[in-house]
Amino acid sequence: MNDGLEEHLDALVGKLDLPRKVRLLTGESHWRTYAEPAIGLREINVSDGPAGVRGPAWDNGSPSACLPCPTAIAASWDVDRAAAAGRVLAAEATRKGVDVVLGPTANLQRSPLAGRHFEWWSEDPVLTARLAGALVGTLQRHGVAATVKHYVANDTETERATVDVRLDERTLREVYLAPFEHIVRNERPWLVMASYNAVNGTAMTEHELLDSPLRADWGFDGLVMSDWHATRSVAAASAGLDLTMPGPGGPWGAALVQAVTDGLVSEAAVDTKVKNLLRLAARLGALDSVTVTRTPVTVDVRRELHAAGADATVLLHNSRDLLPLAPERLRRVAVFGELAGSPRIQGGGSAEVRPTHVVSPLDGLEAALPPGVQLTYTAGSYLEGDPAPVPPEMLGAPVLIRWLDDTGAEVAREDRRSAALVRLGADVPAGATTVELTTRIVPDVSGTWQLGLSGAGRIVFAVDGRTLLHDDVRPTHDGPGAEILTPPVRTFDVPLDAGRPVDVLLRQRMPKSGSAVAIRSRAPRRTAAEELAVAREQARAADVAIVVVGTSSQTESEGFDRANLSLPDGQDDLVRAVAAENPNTVVVVNAGAPVLLPWRHDVAAVLVTWFGGQESGAALADVLLGHAEPGGRLPMTWPERGEDVPVLDTAPEHGRLEYGEGVHVGYRAWLRAGVEPAYPFGHGVGYTSWELAGVHSGPDSAVRVSVRNTGSRPGKQVLQVYLARPGSSVERPARWLAGFAVVRGGPGETLTAEIPLPPQAFQHWDAARRDWAVEPGTFEVSIGFSCADIRGTTSITVHEE
Ligand code: BGC
Repeated sequence: MNDGLEEHLDALVGKLDLPRKVRLLTGESHWRTYAEPAIGLREINVSDGPAGVRGPAWDNGSPSACLPCPTAIAASWDVDRAAAAGRVLAAEATRKGVDVVLGPTANLQRSPLAGRHFEWWSEDPVLTARLAGALVGTLQRHGVAATVKHYVANDTETERATVDVRLDERTLREVYLAPFEHIVRNERPWLVMASYNAVNGTAMTEHELLDSPLRADWGFDGLVMSDWHATRSVAAASAGLDLTMPGPGGPWGAALVQAVTDGLVSEAAVDTKVKNLLRLAARLGALDSVTVTRTPVTVDVRRELHAAGADATVLLHNSRDLLPLAPERLRRVAVFGELAGSPRIQGGGSAEVRPTHVVSPLDGLEAALPPGVQLTYTAGSYLEGDPAPVPPEMLGAPVLIRWLDDTGAEVAREDRRSAALVRLGADVPAGATTVELTTRIVPDVSGTWQLGLSGAGRIVFAVDGRTLLHDDVRPTHDGPGAEILTPPVRTFDVPLDAGRPVDVLLRQRMPKSGSAVAIRSRAPRRTAAEELAVAREQARAADVAIVVVGTSSQTESEGFDRANLSLPDGQDDLVRAVAAENPNTVVVVNAGAPVLLPWRHDVAAVLVTWFGGQESGAALADVLLGHAEPGGRLPMTWPERGEDVPVLDTAPEHGRLEYGEGVHVGYRAWLRAGVEPAYPFGHGVGYTSWELAGVHSGPDSAVRVSVRNTGSRPGKQVLQVYLARPGSSVERPARWLAGFAVVRGGPGETLTAEIPLPPQAFQHWDAARRDWAVEPGTFEVSIGFSCADIRGTTSITVHEE
């Protein structure tokens, strides 16, 4: 950074009095910091998040590119893919006037039940660190700040605002802090977000971990921002937290000015925070007095997301080599599953964005299959739970939003193309206490529809002038973001005729937080038995059956953990029924986390497409037809049965969640327990075959690995290097990932990768000395195509320092 910058920032801080300084340390709104014209500081715009950039408001009506979720990018095991995701985010942030992206996450998939599993990358700290790190570096190279979150041990959702995670120091350092350490040391992120939870008794927004190791050991010189509403007290201002979000209001403000005046918090602490904020502003070009030049980024977003989707797709098995399908031999393809028509392209919660379009699996196949092939579709089984917001294509008129004050007078109005609205805090037009949405719905089929709404407060809901609800609707959940994540829903059975428009009105007297409402609809349905019978018939008549199954927004989302690992709502029965009629059944899993596949031996192939983003249907079609390689390998273990999972529990007891398994998480725990999962960490088969051609370890702790493509197609392989230390004097994981590399090549080709193993891979945290240590001696080095499919070994000897 520029010479003399630190002195310049000190001088700017010195120009402000205490109230002015303190004002800067709370957000001006949900998504903005305060400007301070006296020192040439403009406001800074922040936006979620990891899988798309929503924009400087939750809901500004403007669409955003929706990327594959972080778990999907992690499944590519490709740092270049993560960097490319960073380029898309940078382009989107620049387009939307966003300075700070609230991502990536660096938490770990400790339990497959975790509600935000899709937003975490992996169960392994090294894979998480390398990929999230590549994204941070790329984003910031284009002048957009990354926020590494949620620091730290915020791995599950149950009681997330208060849970006290208990874990020992070695586990903290080697497992949960490790991705943060790697990213901070190597990619210099401009922000870190302090999480909701407590660690060993202290709230993370007040924790000494914000100073040490974050700043003291790793050299972090950015801004520590709170998660939304995570700051619990004024006392947090004495700790390393710099900025409390969102605002205005919150626990700092006047209370912090008073605390400084009373000598409870030092003014020097306030100055340091303001300086950290100004340093961020300087990096972003948000200070008049500091010039920065942004490196513009251009990226073909659709093409990138399409390719990323295929590269993330994991082929779990492919018996009889059914895939890729040969279109010239197909006459009829039958597609099933509600998710085939309305896929989950992203997980629910703060990561959500609204894309311009979604390519569903059905759309993707329709476009990719040659004209002679007939495509049939029926859902086969229905996802239960609440109806979704009315899709834009069913709106016969824009949604008119009117903001009204206490007298009923209109203070603002706008038109939009979405039946869902979120406007919180300062983003609500001044003076408005009521919001009214009116639109026209044009049903595409006749029958009994479910029409309704979500949102809390005093609600009026009317269809064609008939009032169906006029009541006080109470929230059903609490906790941060509950109004958005788990709003109360009311629905009504309404007979509608195809093509005949109906007028719908939703009026909400808003709760204090603002408005989060939606008009919702669900088309008429057959009975479950009738629907399954139709599916059976279509499966029987087809050459190939493709069933898309997955989790629903009611079972996997931010704000709560999953209750179990099963597919919801009769989807297992659907797969069994289809597979019984058609031996060429391919199952596509559209979920952000492992699900149980009790029928997996009865179907020809299983693919995992995760929450694959807006282009996921096109990517799936490419993989099914062999235009693209299923390039993914599992970034986490997939269990056979829920009871086999060594680390499952997400429910705190008396407010505490014990990480009693220590460093043995994910595949490390499975290997230790000696239990075989359905599919191990790192697994995925692709369309060609590979054999190991050579392994050599060099003196510089790099491993050189050669593999040969022994199949008949070009393909991709992920070379995974694991370490082990048999007979160690330290309790260690059975095996741990130390490095990896992606190779791609044609039939008969031999490819060689040089895989560096960083010094930390050989270190353990010595709790007695409170420092990293190396046990001299010989480490076993294994090269695998998964953590359980080891193809060769070598060793590296480490000497006394
Ligand atoms: C989430 C964060 C997110 C923030 C703002 C919080 O509830 O935990 O990940 O960035 O909301 O939407």
